[in-house]
Amino acid sequence: MKAVVWDGVNRVKVERVPDPEILQPTDAIVRVTSTAICGSDLHLVDGYVPSMVHGDILGHEFMGEVVEVGPAVRRIKVGDRVIVPFPISCGQCWYCRRGLTSLCDNSNPNATLAEALWGYSPAGIYGYSHLTGGYAGGQAQFARTVYADDNLYVVPGGMADEQALFLTDVLPTGYMAAEHCQIEPGDVVAIFGCGPVGQFAVRSAFLLGAERVITIDRFEERLALAAQAGAETINYEKEEVFERLKFLTGGRGPDSVMDAVGLEAHGTGMGGLADAVKQTTRVLETERPHALRAAIMACRKGGTVSVPGVYGGLADKIPVGSFMNKALTLKTGQTHVHRYLDVLTRHIERGEIDPAVIITHRLSLDEAPHAYKIFKHKHEHCIKCVLDP
Ligand code: NAD
Ligand code: ZN
Repeated sequence: MKAVVWDGVNRVKVERVPDPEILQPTDAIVRVTSTAICGSDLHLVDGYVPSMVHGDILGHEFMGEVVEVGPAVRRIKVGDRVIVPFPISCGQCWYCRRGLTSLCDNSNPNATLAEALWGYSPAGIYGYSHLTGGYAGGQAQFARTVYADDNLYVVPGGMADEQALFLTDVLPTGYMAAEHCQIEPGDVVAIFGCGPVGQFAVRSAFLLGAERVITIDRFEERLALAAQAGAETINYEKEEVFERLKFLTGGRGPDSVMDAVGLEAHGTGMGGLADAVKQTTRVLETERPHALRAAIMACRKGGTVSVPGVYGGLADKIPVGSFMNKALTLKTGQTHVHRYLDVLTRHIERGEIDPAVIITHRLSLDEAPHAYKIFKHKHEHCIKCVLDP
């Protein structure tokens, strides 16, 4: 089959690789019908995530048709159309039983390695380095999925791929980030970053009752898409963000602020651990305005800072004095995708959220190297690329 593989920092290529096979009785093989490139994939391409190996198949946002199931799979059937949540849940551990699936204790076969390095082990994630389990990703014609009964989510009949695909990640990520803001009637929510995650955060914040949403980015087409959903906008290259936010909130600051940016996509890492640490630190020291610091500084006293943006292991230029003395609440995490699937599917079916609005590019799998380039550099007004394998 064909697959998109990591070929070193800033190098992505399409290769012929062996078809995946059932390895465990709880596995299922999915014929991928749609897959997308995520801001998190850029951290791999930028070389911020150690333990990538040449030839690793990328991609954690994918869906398709089940073509084979292992002997222990009961709920999922051959022929089902499914989306595959990006974090892998075992369905059994302390975290999974509480719906905190992105913290699963059992789905990462390399947990010991991650723990030695970071002091904790993340859940397994498809296409996201060996520290999250070394699972082959879904930017491919076929993918092996694990714990199929506990993870694969059957898409309602008649729902188009473009409506369902982002249930795998960026839609629930925007939603969880908004839920983390603990929005109350009348609240003003500010969101740094108008990528796919920021876009769904805007729409989710309104669904969850925000009175106003203010978005910050530098790409006019991204700000315009947020404005379409009712957000006010600030272009941080043209306006002084803190002053503008204060002005727009009667001098107090937003009630909650999201960092939907994370590591900046300008990385020039080498893919190794020491380099990843150095690079994350360098970015925090030099890039301005840095989103997490800005979010903490911009939030009103007693407010909430919600961080869907992804960070690497050890960078730490956080203004902890402001954080503590302003009595802020910080909520973050990889998204517990599974717990939001029913509610978001209903929102899509009722037309309350249209996931397809973020798609600017529909390309073939062969065009993946180009897709990565334009998505990383935001060329061609790119907001989200969907690949058809
Ligand atoms: P993206 O690269 O398309 O969007 C990031 C946006 O932030 C860009 O539009 C960029 O111009 C803007 N930006 C950069 N620096 C900024 C600054 N200082 N102030 C304001 N805006 C700034 O990526 P995306 O797909 O939207 O993902 C965003 C982040 O969310 C990434 O870090 C990604 O890894 C993370 N993510 C997290 C989860 C999760 O489970 N928590 C899931 C998916 C993605
Ligand atoms: Zn993603």
